Amino acid sequence: MATYRIAVLPGDGIGQEVIPQAVKVLHIVAREAGVGIEFEQALVGGVAIDAEGTPCPEATLALCRISDAILFGAVGGPKWDALPPDGRPERGLLTLRKALDLYANLRPAKLYPVLVEASPLKRSVVEGADLLVVRELTGGLYFGEPRGIEEVDGGRRGYNTMSYTSAEIERVARLAFGLARQRRRRLTSVDKANVLVVSQLWRQVVTEVARDFPDVELEHLLVDACAMALIAEPRRFDTIVTENTFGDILSDEAAILAGSMGMLPSASLGGRTALYEPVHGSAPDIAGQGIANPLAAILSAAMLLRHSLELPKEADRVEEAVRRALEAGFRTRDIHQPGTRLVGTAQMGDIVVRELEALYG
Ligand code: NAD
Repeated sequence: MATYRIAVLPGDGIGQEVIPQAVKVLHIVAREAGVGIEFEQALVGGVAIDAEGTPCPEATLALCRISDAILFGAVGGPKWDALPPDGRPERGLLTLRKALDLYANLRPAKLYPVLVEASPLKRSVVEGADLLVVRELTGGLYFGEPRGIEEVDGGRRGYNTMSYTSAEIERVARLAFGLARQRRRRLTSVDKANVLVVSQLWRQVVTEVARDFPDVELEHLLVDACAMALIAEPRRFDTIVTENTFGDILSDEAAILAGSMGMLPSASLGGRTALYEPVHGSAPDIAGQGIANPLAAILSAAMLLRHSLELPKEADRVEEAVRRALEAGFRTRDIHQPGTRLVGTAQMGDIVVRELEALYG
């Protein structure tokens, strides 16, 4: 029997509440599918600062390096907001991304038919939307040098650099083409090639990579046009690949399609060990109340099964169990509507477990 090791990093706030639900679901998969999964928990974020004085302790990093995948909750909260940027909880996540070379962030945005009324977009526009944003995560404007603020002519000048090497573009493009191949075989590469030189290189390299994927249809789209099309005609998209800053903004915009932050999973891939986390943060406003939606965390566990453990059928089952829980009318507060049944975090986890057990028969 194959045995996998998963590093479990719940972090802060509702991370502590939603991650146990995802672990519960993975326990069922392990039992029913005959897969060995060992879970080992470690500290990250604010709780790690409190216990160890650093947001990403050495022991956490060491565990992540020897694990097959990381299940991550969320980090941050008002308690640590006054700390300098390098000592803040969010630094824990950035440290992991960098240390593990997680250069591609995958964010599926799929609207479950029963949640169509939870989306702010009209049913006629949003129904059937199902897309994946692949965002480059370790390059571009957020990391480029030089950057800084300098004194000039009696004032100040702030600057960042958007820079990409062809190798950085190629690896994320290849990954995105491969993912599009597993979906509906359409890839939209988003850039600003009419203005930015770095985008012209992006477009050239993506076009070169496309030759190795003749079965995937490629289109190039300017980022401003993409921002409009995402809400005007979201069904037009299958897989989107773009650089770091554009991806940051577009993936949040795409999140609106799904109705709630509590529904959105993500994966960060690159090196040997990938990291899976709900898109949402630690939600201090509702932490500790047992009302957070655990479905984004559970769907992140499904991505973990698909991408790191290579168990696509088990991933499909978990996603189906989530769909059935919603279709049976159960809702946490963020997606609750008249005529549906309000449940808490652990209860929603139990309902998904029940549906999953039923699917295994
Ligand atoms: P947030 O995602 O934590 O919350 C935004 C809103 O969505 C809140 O009203 C919250 O109650 C709601 N929400 C989020 N997840 C939910 C869920 N699962 N169920 C129900 N409602 C949910 O974003 P924020 O308020 O901007 O940030 C709070 C803290 O989280 C900050 O410290 C921020 O830095 C941190 N943060 C961390 C991550 C991460 O760890 N990857 C991501 C974003 C924000």
